[in-house]
Amino acid sequence: MTTDSSWSDRIAGALLGLAAGDALGAGYEFTNPRADAEIGMVGGGGFGWQPGEWTDDTQMAICIAEVTATGAVDVEAIGARFLDWYATGPKDVGVQTSRVLAAANGDPGRLTDVAARHFAANPQGAAGNGSLMRTAPITLANLGDDVAIVESALSVSALTHGDPLAGEACVLWCIAIDRAVREQRLDGVDEGLAHLPSTRRLFWSDRLREARKHAPGSFTPNGFVVTALQAAVAAIEQTPVPHDEPWRHLPLALESAVRIGHDTDTVAAIAGSLLGARWGGSAVPFAWRRVLHGWPGYRAGDLVRLAVLTAAKGRTDSSGWPTAGDLTEHYGRTAGHRPLAVPLPDDPGVVIGNVVGRPEDGIDAVVSLCRVGRQYVPSGVEHHEVHFIDTPGANANLRHVVLDTAAGILSLREEGKRVYLHCAAGQSRTPAVAAAYLHLRFGISGDEALRRVGTVVQHSQHNHELVTLVRTLPATP
Ligand SMILES: [Mg+2]
Repeated sequence: MTTDSSWSDRIAGALLGLAAGDALGAGYEFTNPRADAEIGMVGGGGFGWQPGEWTDDTQMAICIAEVTATGAVDVEAIGARFLDWYATGPKDVGVQTSRVLAAANGDPGRLTDVAARHFAANPQGAAGNGSLMRTAPITLANLGDDVAIVESALSVSALTHGDPLAGEACVLWCIAIDRAVREQRLDGVDEGLAHLPSTRRLFWSDRLREARKHAPGSFTPNGFVVTALQAAVAAIEQTPVPHDEPWRHLPLALESAVRIGHDTDTVAAIAGSLLGARWGGSAVPFAWRRVLHGWPGYRAGDLVRLAVLTAAKGRTDSSGWPTAGDLTEHYGRTAGHRPLAVPLPDDPGVVIGNVVGRPEDGIDAVVSLCRVGRQYVPSGVEHHEVHFIDTPGANANLRHVVLDTAAGILSLREEGKRVYLHCAAGQSRTPAVAAAYLHLRFGISGDEALRRVGTVVQHSQHNHELVTLVRTLPATP
């Protein structure tokens, strides 16, 4: 199995991308934005979503991921989670899903039969996109095992969707997500064809050819699982990958997916699960990750936790991450860090330090550049966890991660919030991002910014890639 260092970023990206597409599209559902319309994380739409709030697409993916995060793809337990979720009275539920969940009378063991009978009685109307939109966790639970991916994708789809078309679409997309995470490719959907019954391959290869040939906007309406998958493929494959900043393909293709119109949240959620698996959670802009939230009271960090645990079959790393409440002792004991927290020169509203130095009071937002416990930040304080590995060559989107995080800190400061920026030791990632922030805020060169940060913390120079990146940021007028 391929396991490079940005591996966990791509695992997290499958769920963060799904949620970002879902929340981006939520405000445009059942509309047809113009081809040149500006698309933003604005919320609204027919259900009155808050900006950054995800809908049933992510909610149902969370139902699956909460089971797979325990280390098993227990289909009946997933069905039970769907029923629990349905009992909360979600404001957005697909027609097909709603009919089956309502008819099961609270018994998860009946779902597959109910869905099959529903399809038998309504052969023309049972192939909605509602199982495809939520399927990403299935891949994370079975990375590198095509046979298990196919079996799980089909059985979880069949809980609500009896039409084989829905299951086939899930198989294709799950294989695509697997190839994106493990091989950093966006075209794995073609390899999914080999896992379909031989009589179904020509149908789907023709549909994929159409998706590559016709403009994305032609795949509407897209409540049907086939046009929804085609719309996602068209938005992804017909959006050019920017040569200088490949990560931007994720937001650009998601905006393209939303511009297709109609079932915008679902098409963008489907597209986002593959885009995030390819480009990583770090390609989801800080400004989007900051506002992402939704049922059952989760934020972006919770999606990362579910994704990472699912891929690790329920196991934490040796420190207890991502489930442990507090890793402070782990850092203090194993790494021997002494508390460090100092105000930044030129802006004392940003305090920089290390994981054991977090101030008790006077901080409105914490930006963590290393792994921390779930209770590291007191409730009521904003917390942002940034995927950032302090090893040269380890971050697929390093320049973007540094500048995007710095821009995030700038926006927090513009809202008057006092920020604590830290990593594990506070000697490499933290000074680099702090310098990038001073560069953005005051227009000074990265070299000058690093010198100023160096007056309050010692900047270790061991990560030459990071130091060079910051040093070469030019002064701006
Ligand atoms: Mg939705």
